[in-house]
Order: sequence, then structure tokens, then C-alpha cells
Amino acid sequence: MSADFELNEIHWMMDMFNTIDVGLVVLDRKYNICVWNGFMEAHSGLLPSAVKGKDVFDAFPGIDEAWFRSKAESVFVLKTRSFTIWEQHPYIFKFKNYRPITGKADYMYQNGTLIPLTNTTGEVSHLCVIIYDVTDEAVNKLELEQANAKLEELSRVDRLTNLYNRGFWEESFSKEFKRQQRSQNKSSLLMFDIDHFKKINDLYGHPGGDAALCFVSQTLKKVLRESDVAGRYGGEEFAVTLVDTDIEGAKVFAERLRQTMEEAVIHYEESEIMLTISIGIAEFDGKYTKYEQWIEDADKALYRSKESGRNTVSVA
Ligand code: GH3
Ligand code: MG
Ligand code: MG
Repeated sequence: MSADFELNEIHWMMDMFNTIDVGLVVLDRKYNICVWNGFMEAHSGLLPSAVKGKDVFDAFPGIDEAWFRSKAESVFVLKTRSFTIWEQHPYIFKFKNYRPITGKADYMYQNGTLIPLTNTTGEVSHLCVIIYDVTDEAVNKLELEQANAKLEELSRVDRLTNLYNRGFWEESFSKEFKRQQRSQNKSSLLMFDIDHFKKINDLYGHPGGDAALCFVSQTLKKVLRESDVAGRYGGEEFAVTLVDTDIEGAKVFAERLRQTMEEAVIHYEESEIMLTISIGIAEFDGKYTKYEQWIEDADKALYRSKESGRNTVSVA
């Protein structure tokens, strides 16, 4: 092979090395930068002459040093490749993201490969860091995950009231039921229904009724504790799991809820809507074999509240 040809080949290699859309960096055993290709120059804005010989962690304080060192040490010591993926660590070098389509990411997501470079005596004296820009892939995946989370949220929540829908509430209630079968602390179930709700619809129209339902739901949310789980059980019927609350505690809560609703004034257009609710409560009973029995008991108590004139609390 002629010397000319070999010289040409080196030129071509250098051209390719600087044009390839992948970052290539060579570090020595002390983490000083030895080689810095065109990709790295373009994204860091630093010429090879500006970084060569510098400690990579001094030149790029954005690198997670402890993490990167542990990856790199295994390459030096074990003489095997090592990989980094954006899902575990978004990037090695923090570069701004300039891609127009993925303007949603602030920085470039990177996968990396660290390969050992041996010298003439077979020692791993350097390593090469290969950086792949995976911003498009990462943004797509993150967006899909967000969309899925949003869908899951939508499938759990009732659109009008933002409370859990019946399906999700019942699922969570059945879990609490199972937990109760082993638990020392008693939980209670509260169910309530708005009194004469048909009249509200008749007087203020369906949108007025909707506004009243939203108000009741918001008010309910405000008086709940973090651990309680409330759901819209039916049209104007609601269910609340009062976790670790025995029947005495449930009575106090129910009475406060009843009173709050009775005193509230709902401003709807030019009108002021007032309403009351009827409540039934039931404490978990060890005799229950199905969660449906617990619901039945609370529902029966609610029915007694209706029978006895509404706007009241009954205990199963
Ligand atoms: P009671 O005191 O016996 O509970 O009387 P009520 O009028 O509340 O009784 P009933 O359960 O028969 O009526 C409930 C009404 O709630 C009937 C239905 O049209 C209305 N409703 C159910 N869902 C919605 C809703 O999402 N929005 C509105 N505006 N009304 C609803
Ligand atoms: Mg009703
Ligand atoms: Mg009803």
C-alpha cells in the first residue's frame, strides 16, 4: 500500500470522525480529555484546543462525577465495555437541545458507551466515550408515559365532580375491605344522598343541578382527611371510606358534614341554592364475607334517614 494512500486514509478518517453525528471523546487514566470530535465541539461550543489536556470534571461540572467514575473505573479495571442509558441517567454531558421537533426537551438526552482503549503493552490506558443523541426517542417515550398517566387518571375520575367514579371507588373500597379483615383499627363507610334533588333540577334546570353537585363534591373534599376515599356512587349519591375511623368517629364526621351542607349557600347565576343531605354510616363488621354487605348496611341506614324525614344521620 502506498504511503499516499495511507495518508489519504488518515485524512478520510479524520473527516468522518469530525462529521459523524455521534460524540467521541477519549479520556486518559486521570480523566483528562485527549480527543474531542466535531459533534462534541458543535454541542459544547468548545474547540478541541480549548478542552484538550483538561480534567473532564473541571471542564464540565455538569457531569455526575461519582456516577461517571464508577462506570469508567469498571472499564479501566475489567477491560470491558460499559453503557449508560437515558432512562437511568438522562445525559453524561449536559448539552442544550436545539432540535426543532423536540423543542420540549431542555437538554439533549444521551445514551453512552464507554470502551477500553489498550496501549501497545496491552494495558487499558485510555477510554473512549461514545455519546448518542437520543432526545427524540426520550421525548416520545416521556410524552407517551404522560399521556398514559392522564388517560388512567381520566378513567378513574368522574368528569363532572372530579371525585373518583364508582368503578374506581369500589375497587379501592374492596381493597380496604380486605385490609379490614386483618386490621385492628376499624374503618367506617359513609354514604349520602342529596335530598329532593329532583326539585333542584326542576327549579334551576339541569345545569343548576350540576353546579350543586360540583359544590357538594368540593365541600366534601375540603372536609375529608388525606386517607379517606370519596367517590361519586350514583347520580347524586356519594360514598366515603373513612379509613381507621370507628363508628363514633364516623358519627362526628357525618354530623359535621350534614351541618356543613345544610348551612352552605350555593351561588348559581342569580340564584342561591340550598340543600340538605341524608347520611347512612356503617362500621366494618367481622361477620361480613363480601364488601357488598358493608355497602348494603350503609345504604339501609341511608334509607332510614330518608324515611325519618331526611337531613339526618343514621347508623347501621
Ligand atoms: P330523595 O330525597 O328521595 O333522594 O329525592 P331525590 O329527588 O333526590 O331522588 P331521586 O334519587 O329519585 O332523584 C335523583 C335525581 O338526580 C334524578 C336525576 O335526574 C338527577 N341526577 C342524577 N344525576 C345527575 C347529574 O349528573 N346532574 C343533574 N343535574 N341531575 C342528576
Ligand atoms: Mg336524592
Ligand atoms: Mg338518589
